[in-house]
Amino acid sequence: LFAGPVDFVKGVVAMSGLPPADRLEICFAGRSNVGKSSLINALTGRKALARTSNTPGRTQEINYFDVGEKLFLVDLPGYGFAEAPVAVVRQWQALLKSYLSGRATLRRAFVLIDMRHGIKKVDEEILDLLNKAAVTFQVVLTKADKISAAQRDKTLDQVRKALAKHPAAYPELLVTSSEKGEGIATLRAIIATMQ
Ligand code: GDP
Repeated sequence: LFAGPVDFVKGVVAMSGLPPADRLEICFAGRSNVGKSSLINALTGRKALARTSNTPGRTQEINYFDVGEKLFLVDLPGYGFAEAPVAVVRQWQALLKSYLSGRATLRRAFVLIDMRHGIKKVDEEILDLLNKAAVTFQVVLTKADKISAAQRDKTLDQVRKALAKHPAAYPELLVTSSEKGEGIATLRAIIATMQ
């Protein structure tokens, strides 16, 4: 699936701007700096498809990418900027809520969690939104290369416990490192089998 072309389609700031819901769709969500751009770039094998290090507070867009005309890969804006203006945060939350509850073709949301930090309060808000919208989500742990095996186990434990109360959570956790390539093939295979 990812061997073919992957193209940027558009950046969306309102529900009215969404492309036609004519194919399978997956989205990626996570706190800013979680490694979302790096993961999307590793997944698609493109160096700079998703722009890394977004600027806090600037107009946030839902970025659509087309994968082989078979799948929309959706890059949701990073959340959790402490310095983002309240109005920007509200606008983003409203769009996210509409998107998650109103996109019939959305098959799964991948929620990225920094393996060093585990699930934080701001992540919980997204998980609650996904649950309410009944969108199946799967947690992808990022930056696995940055921590020890013992720390990994500790985070996996914390995340499993946190997910126990979320019925929309897909039980399999994915451990990844965009830097080292760990887990990337597994993630690709998961997405490819969604066809
Ligand atoms: P985004 O804001 O979620 O899109 O995060 P980025 O992809 O821009 O990554 C944020 C920072 O984390 C950058 O400095 C990346 O180089 C670094 N980073 C991302 N993924 C990894 C990883 O798997 N391992 C390591 N060591 N660093 C990573």
